Parts: sequence; C-alpha cells; structure tokens
Amino acid sequence: MAADNPCLKEHGPFIASGCLQCAGIRESCCAESYVPLTMADLNAILDLGYTLEEAAEAGEYYEEYLEDAEPWWRAGMTEIDGRLFRLTTRKNERSQCAFLREGRGCVLGERRPRVCKIYPFWVDGQGEIVVEPGEEECCLIAGSAASVERGIRMIDESPASIVEHFMAIKRDCEENGERRRELLLRLLGKKEAITA
Ligand code: SF4
Ligand code: SF4
Repeated sequence: MAADNPCLKEHGPFIASGCLQCAGIRESCCAESYVPLTMADLNAILDLGYTLEEAAEAGEYYEEYLEDAEPWWRAGMTEIDGRLFRLTTRKNERSQCAFLREGRGCVLGERRPRVCKIYPFWVDGQGEIVVEPGEEECCLIAGSAASVERGIRMIDESPASIVEHFMAIKRDCEENGERRRELLLRLLGKKEAITA
C-alpha cells in the first residue's frame, strides 16, 4: 500500500483526544468514510511525497444522496460522462482510508484534510456549528450527550477553527472546478500529461 512506503514522509500520527476510545470499540470514521479533498488538502499531501494516484481517487457520488445538498456543495462535484465525482482520499484494499494506521490514527497529522479536522461538525445555513445531520449513530462524539462546545474540544479544535476550515471547504467547492476536473480526468484514466 502506498501509504506504507517508508520513503514517504509522515507526520506524527494524529488521533483526537476524544477519539481515543473509538479505536478500541468500533471502526472509526476513518475506516468507513468518503473523505472529500480540497485542492489545498491535496497539495499538502503531495508535499509529503505522495503521487496524485497514491493520495487520491475519483470518488463517485450519487444524485439520490444529493437532494438536500446546498448549491455550493453541489458545485464541488464534477460531472464526467453523466456521473458525479469529487476528489477523495485513496482507499486501501480494505476500503479504509489509506492514511489510517489502526490504533494510531492518521499519518497525515496536521496535514489531514479539513473535513477530517472538523468531523463530526459542520456549519449550517444560519452559520451555526452543528453536529452533521445523520452522524449521531456513526460517531461516538456526535452520539454522546456532550454539548457542541465540549465535542469541539474533544476533537482538539475550537469554534473559530471549525468555521475557518468549513469556509475553506466551501470556497474550494466554488472556485476550483477547472483544476478538479483535470485531476479527476487523470485519475479516471481519461487524460494524461497533467501536472499534479
Ligand atoms: S485522512 Fe486521516 S483523518 Fe482523514 S479519514 Fe484518512 S486517516 Fe482519517
Ligand atoms: S470523530 Fe467520531 S467516529 Fe471519528 S474517530 Fe472520533 S469519535 Fe470515532
């Protein structure tokens, strides 16, 4: 697996303090999720020495799950041959995120994608930080009785950093469509000679 290549730079594995119990009880969110990448997220991983193909894949999304999606989130999708894709982290042969080390966390450390940094939180249309709808059953923090403020501390973030990461994700969806398309075409084997 590419992420096990000892020649590639790794950061100290990161696992949020509130997530430590997760690894011993159940598969963490890192094991199951589709992890969307902003261009800045991708570049931060490529700077560690990974190739585009080692770091990312063309994650397919389906219309039936996008009915309630806000327009800016929808703008982060790229339609190719009638199917919807976005850049997501590479999965390993067990369909886990390739950057996960069991019981240790994420080898990307501070370079992990923004959406990973803020999960299970999101910012709603009114600008309020909320637990992402539907995540209560998947995530111990989201499903606990902890307040949003305490939950944010459990993932070692702050309300300000949650909003900052969220806004960067939103801007990326709105602004980087052309570059995203180029990279997705390359990952799908439909175009060559594009510099990552
Ligand atoms: S990039 Fe890191 S934090 Fe994000 S899902 Fe993968 S292992 Fe988890
Ligand atoms: S964010 Fe939630 S699901 Fe992910 S490791 Fe932490 S407690 Fe578990």
